[in-house]
Amino acid sequence: MKRTKRESPATGERKRELLAAARKARRSAYAPYSRFHVGAAVLGGDGRVYAGCNVENASFGLTCCAERNAVFAMIAAGERRVREVLVIGGSDGPLPPCGACRQVLAEFAAPDVRVHMCGASGACRTATVGELVPYIFRLKKGRT
Ligand SMILES: [Zn+2]
Repeated sequence: MKRTKRESPATGERKRELLAAARKARRSAYAPYSRFHVGAAVLGGDGRVYAGCNVENASFGLTCCAERNAVFAMIAAGERRVREVLVIGGSDGPLPPCGACRQVLAEFAAPDVRVHMCGASGACRTATVGELVPYIFRLKKGRT
């Protein structure tokens, strides 16, 4: 895919916008069991920011992470492409997405999409989706 200047890797300003959205979403986290609040924000191909927080459930298997909820909000709005990701949690150091979220991110983000992983202290680390998911599971999409 041809990359336009407008779609170049995010600037610090865009990262700050994602961080603000993720922090705001984190305040809405529903985590009464773990008390581990997480917020995430994704930049959609449409230039809009979609945020999500973790939502736990007494039936633990039904819990859904902030990153997936952010991506699902983007999908519900009709956008299909993630251009950048930021996740922030209550960890001391940078908080990487879990394996399930990496798989979901890889479904909608190109391997060169940047994922900013931040901790409560403000420490962040950035990696690409391809670095986080080097051997992605893919299925051939059916015809519509
Ligand atoms: Zn996750």
